[in-house]
Amino acid sequence: MIVMKFGGSSISNADRIKSIAKIIQMSLNRKPFIVTSAMGKTTDNLLQAGENALHGTVNLEEIKTLHYDTLKELGLKKEKEKIEDIFKELANLLWGIYLLKELSPRTKDYLVSFGERLSAKILAAYLSKVKIPAQSFDAWDIGFTSNSDFTNGEVLDESYEKISQSLGKLKSDYSYTPVITGFIAKDKSGNITTLGRGGSDLTASVLGAALDVEEIEVWKDVDGILTTDPRIVKHARPVQAISFEEASELAYFGAKVLHPRSIIPAMLKNIPVRVKNFYDFDHPGTVILKDFKDEKSLLRVITFKRNVTLIDVVSTRMLGQYGFMSKVFQIFNDEKISVDMVATSEISISMTLNDYRENLDTLKKELEKIANIEIKKGKSIITMIGNVKHSSEILEQVFNALKAKGINVQMISQGASKVNISFIVDDREMETCVKDLHKIFFEETT
Ligand code: ASP
Repeated sequence: MIVMKFGGSSISNADRIKSIAKIIQMSLNRKPFIVTSAMGKTTDNLLQAGENALHGTVNLEEIKTLHYDTLKELGLKKEKEKIEDIFKELANLLWGIYLLKELSPRTKDYLVSFGERLSAKILAAYLSKVKIPAQSFDAWDIGFTSNSDFTNGEVLDESYEKISQSLGKLKSDYSYTPVITGFIAKDKSGNITTLGRGGSDLTASVLGAALDVEEIEVWKDVDGILTTDPRIVKHARPVQAISFEEASELAYFGAKVLHPRSIIPAMLKNIPVRVKNFYDFDHPGTVILKDFKDEKSLLRVITFKRNVTLIDVVSTRMLGQYGFMSKVFQIFNDEKISVDMVATSEISISMTLNDYRENLDTLKKELEKIANIEIKKGKSIITMIGNVKHSSEILEQVFNALKAKGINVQMISQGASKVNISFIVDDREMETCVKDLHKIFFEETT
């Protein structure tokens, strides 16, 4: 048994759905359980429709056209009625938003859930049409339960047992292909929730762990995980295999390959996750494995995050004072701002903010009660994922390259997980750094 997850760009129109059916057909002997995202940009379009309703316009035309055109092109006349019912419910919701002038996180989750509910129905119907008997499921009907943290729900442990009970029968008697909505769940009170943007990777991972499958395949539009972003380095190349540890560092540090939290359920059950290319299905892609070690190469991937804010906090009380860090982090906690990178000395802490916020006035005011603060915007984090056993060698090469270009590193940190070295430069220097480092670590060694 395997899980196959198809993201929004893989399921963006009728032709893509036909290709998905071919891919599934080729994997039928491995008993695939399918997880799907919403079609194309539907999640964004639904959020936009919500904003428009809030500001006085209810309009669903673009979303309707995409789904009805797809049905038509796939020759799925019978499905029209079911889809019409879903659109009626969606229109009612939008009128509700319009009338109440309310678009809370809970309402947003209900709103975006329509994307996956529609795509799963269409995909299952098309599979059945081309003689791959299939059935669609809304994730909550097979046990996906989350907490009530709307727009960023956390899957509750009880889901695993429930999922295994609902779909376990298919293990021995695979009589149809289940197509499950990614991204969405319900909380214990029955409210619809979502697992954060890109959350259908997490659905796939939870499903795979609950059913103890042999592999989880995540289908994207690239040949797996690449040595860096191909928009910066055209000849970035696919990495054959990486460890779970490296992959989770990657997910956190900017590479949009997998939803950051998605790796954990698969990792705990030691289930390989393979990232495959929708446009080149023979390509093996990248497999993420437990304990994968490649002693030959120094680095696996160079990744980066732009538009990062760096905060330097220098204690006004100076040396030997205890409790300073805990006070600083308590302020971040109170402000609900999470930090990525941290570097400390006896009297100062430098850190980068995880999410971009324009207004940091309250944070600054609170921190200024105990320290001198400097907030610097427009920075980039460059992260090198790899064999940090050789960190001195890696750092030597990094510093030589940067020195040659006259670029100053503004902060550096080596992750406790021992697979990542990150450093900060100005946004405008980032591209040059990534290009040069890619050359040194991946192009000159081959
Ligand atoms: N459709 C959702 C999104 O666009 C979830 C996903 O694609 O994973 O974020």
